[in-house]
Amino acid sequence: MKIAIMTDLEGPAGVNGRSDGIGNRIVNTPTACQMLVEEINACVRGLLRGGADEIVVWDGHGGSDSIDASKLLPPAQLGTIGGGLVPCVFVDASFDAKVCIGFHAMEGVADGYLNHSFDSHHVCGMWINGEPIGEIGIGAYEAAYFGVPTILVTGDRAACREAKAFLPDVETVCTKRALSRYTVVNRHPEDVRRKIEETAAHALGKLGEFKVRAIPAELEFKVRYMCPNIADSYEKAGWERLDPLTVATRGTDFIDVYSRRLGWAAGVHNRRFGITPGWRG
Ligand SMILES: [Zn+2]
Repeated sequence: MKIAIMTDLEGPAGVNGRSDGIGNRIVNTPTACQMLVEEINACVRGLLRGGADEIVVWDGHGGSDSIDASKLLPPAQLGTIGGGLVPCVFVDASFDAKVCIGFHAMEGVADGYLNHSFDSHHVCGMWINGEPIGEIGIGAYEAAYFGVPTILVTGDRAACREAKAFLPDVETVCTKRALSRYTVVNRHPEDVRRKIEETAAHALGKLGEFKVRAIPAELEFKVRYMCPNIADSYEKAGWERLDPLTVATRGTDFIDVYSRRLGWAAGVHNRRFGITPGWRG
């Protein structure tokens, strides 16, 4: 079985973050990266026990510089993300399952540690067909587009709650409990790693039971930005201006619609990479 692990840096136990005025800043980066790789390795051990034979770990945070490949447990392979001409999806139809390690809640969740939606300095909310969505939901739809179930999400309590609301049968492992965006009680990292290993093995062992989240046939993707000038640039690129801060784009193909947030014109992303629901990258 071939498994994709998408990672983020806000969610592991022991990551210490602050506000830089609006957005988030991790203040113990070397420790945070060590905490992340240990949680990934716990997941890799569990997935191997559950029957995985190929694992691709994507370094999903910021500039894709959080994971030292030499610290990853074999046979996990490391994917790093960079440049303008990359697909906006990191799973395809050749994968059997997707796992999210180190995740956080969407922007605006009061008890979401370091909460944000992709960009803590610009985005104040995202919706698909009126339903609020963050990185967990977008990632689950991306995998669902290729028929791949998301079987495990780890992160703070608010991230786990968000994952369960979006994917009722997903397994979760809670790493910490936030009292506010920057105040948190961390579970002991060793307890978290043990739980991640167990849960990853268990989840993969019952892979056939996971449902792939259905994607609506008609999609409206709405984003609210923190300043009107950011919304201006999306209006210029063809998005509908709903109010000074909010823009929307519509379509029937989730990956095509979502890629427009990253600057791709309608139709171009999927044509460039040959992406269809059965795409194998
Ligand atoms: Zn993130």
